[in-house]
Amino acid sequence: EMFGQLTSGLEAAWSKLKGEDVLTKENIVEPMREIRRALLEADVSLPVVRRFVQAVSEQAVGKELIRGVKPDQQLVKIVHDELVKLMGGEVSELVFAKSSPTVILLAGLQGVGKTTVSAKLAFYLKKLGKSCMLVAADVYRPAAIDQLVILGEQVDVPVYTEGTEKKPSDIAKRGLEEAKKKRIDVVIVDTAGRLQIDKAMMDELKEVKKAVNPTEVLLVVDAMTGQEAAALVTSFNLEVGITGAILTKLDGDSRGGAALSVREVSGKPIKLVGRGERMEDLEPFYPDRMAGRVLGMGDVLTFVEKAQEVMRQEDAEDLQKKIMSAKFDFNDFLKQTRAVAQMGSMTRVIGMIPGMNKVTPAQIREAEKSLKIMEAMIEVMTPEEREKPELLAESPVRRKRVATESGKTEQQVNQLVAQLFQMRVRMKNLMGAMEGGSIPALSN
Ligand code: GDP
Repeated sequence: EMFGQLTSGLEAAWSKLKGEDVLTKENIVEPMREIRRALLEADVSLPVVRRFVQAVSEQAVGKELIRGVKPDQQLVKIVHDELVKLMGGEVSELVFAKSSPTVILLAGLQGVGKTTVSAKLAFYLKKLGKSCMLVAADVYRPAAIDQLVILGEQVDVPVYTEGTEKKPSDIAKRGLEEAKKKRIDVVIVDTAGRLQIDKAMMDELKEVKKAVNPTEVLLVVDAMTGQEAAALVTSFNLEVGITGAILTKLDGDSRGGAALSVREVSGKPIKLVGRGERMEDLEPFYPDRMAGRVLGMGDVLTFVEKAQEVMRQEDAEDLQKKIMSAKFDFNDFLKQTRAVAQMGSMTRVIGMIPGMNKVTPAQIREAEKSLKIMEAMIEVMTPEEREKPELLAESPVRRKRVATESGKTEQQVNQLVAQLFQMRVRMKNLMGAMEGGSIPALSN
């Protein structure tokens, strides 16, 4: 099973939470230690592990527990979401040039599966309806050229070769010319691999890149090499400039370190993964599916997501019921105004977009100031007063106390109380329930 060791390592983390009711700073220490250990054993690089564990801990402790969801299940979900983020979140699609042909340059060390990937990629693109051509620019290994020709025949894609005597950049250039003549959609250039990074290889790669101006430069890396793969992606990117990586041999007993580290370490996405020796064993890299496979707990994830959804719905229904029954209180008021304030900061971002500056910064500052004032007054209210605004409406003594304790004027408190009842009415109207909800006059 792929990532089997990582999966069972993480299981140790969940098991530490069995029997707990909530996630606390104290009871996540042990599970976090297990997560850390599992990731390090999977050969994820240390800085990545540190950041990951930190992010998960912060989320776990701050999180309100969803009804019906146990702490271990909640932690599974948090780890899942962080894993997805770690791997770049969204799938990173191959980019095609505006005018054909698109050139894809493949680089990589020897033995990582680069030649196989060239043919697999052609096969994959053919399925997408694109015509392809392979260019053999790996001139140091005659066997590599022969292999490419054989694989090309296998997937029924033309292979452009000039043997081993010519310069790779010239071969690539002429290959591209040929593809243009034949109106090919995608040209895949297989470049030379070495046993390790050396300057000659990098220089040659730069030269080929310059000669054919590729849309994609993809580094093929072997998943079995763990965090070393991430380091390779980083150095190729710094030296040559690449657009992403292809991770091969994910079907083997790879520990997962490469899949989890590449994006975070190099800043470059994994675009495709190889999961076997057959031509059809190449597929896009889906961070969410990958995280799901790592955890091997699809049912738990689905369950937690459903529970979250139910809770969101209940929250919304709750608020709606309160509004309908004129129970809308200062707690809801605070929630509402805060939500609006958040929208205010969004408006600020929107305001930066030319032509969309409807809300002025001054207006936003004003709104934020009045929110602060309201918060100060609501904070000094007793829980009872918050839930029953009538108490304040009826008692000048209470209003005076709120004013004194919050350092605001009585007039400001009066305004706030009046505003709440106005909001009740306005919301009731909004909900279509027109009857009731009159504004009580403040008694003196
Ligand atoms: P190159 O030296 O980088 O061109 O590597 P090759 O394409 O010749 O592949 C080296 C070996 O790895 C071959 O035996 C391939 O069949 C094998 N290989 C390549 N990709 C995968 C993969 O995704 N899974 C598995 N199991 N083997 C692969």
